[in-house]
Amino acid sequence: MKVTKADIVISAVKPAQYPEGNLPEIALAGRSNVGKSSFINKILNRKSLARISSKPGKTQTLNFFLINDIIHFVDVPGYGYAKVSKTEREAWGKMIETYFTTREQLKATVLVVDLRHEPTNDDVMMYNFLKHYEIPVIVVATKADKIPKGKWQKHLKVVKEALDIAEGDEIVLFSSETGLGKDEAWKAIYRFAGL
Ligand code: GDP
Repeated sequence: MKVTKADIVISAVKPAQYPEGNLPEIALAGRSNVGKSSFINKILNRKSLARISSKPGKTQTLNFFLINDIIHFVDVPGYGYAKVSKTEREAWGKMIETYFTTREQLKATVLVVDLRHEPTNDDVMMYNFLKHYEIPVIVVATKADKIPKGKWQKHLKVVKEALDIAEGDEIVLFSSETGLGKDEAWKAIYRFAGL
């Protein structure tokens, strides 16, 4: 889709702060440093929109973006960063659990993983958590430009098997460097958002 408008509407920590209205919503989750911000910026054609408080050490918030006035993206703070304290991790857990279990507008979650490596235990836990709450998942396997084309299918298979991807979910090969997978990612987002 041609993105003409993409703005942050709020950084929320609790439901009272979530935007009102009934726009379909897509959440974006992933391990810290996996390439989630780059994915968001790439598909929105923006240079540095998704950066605000997404880095470890910064306030952990759910960042809501309004795209073309028709859909919200919700950037979920990254997980799996070793240096985060137990208290911070617990606060993160509570915040995302509340969001994922109560937000009716949520249509699907993009789970960004690294195509180069087998998904981590944290990745598997996040995927299972989403499946437990019956949230559709679009797995985006990014950094494809870092491995030769001839190995893509083999790596995709490893990701699929480690996550045990459920029927109906999608997996998209992606690169924020080259833009590979951009149309396919949008297509999946559109399908789940009912647009
Ligand atoms: P985040 O913490 O998940 O938001 O990760 P970032 O988007 O900040 O990316 C982490 C690092 O990976 C940065 O140095 C990016 O430039 C790099 N990166 C992200 N996506 C890609 C990609 O598709 N290809 C390559 N080669 N590098 C990437």
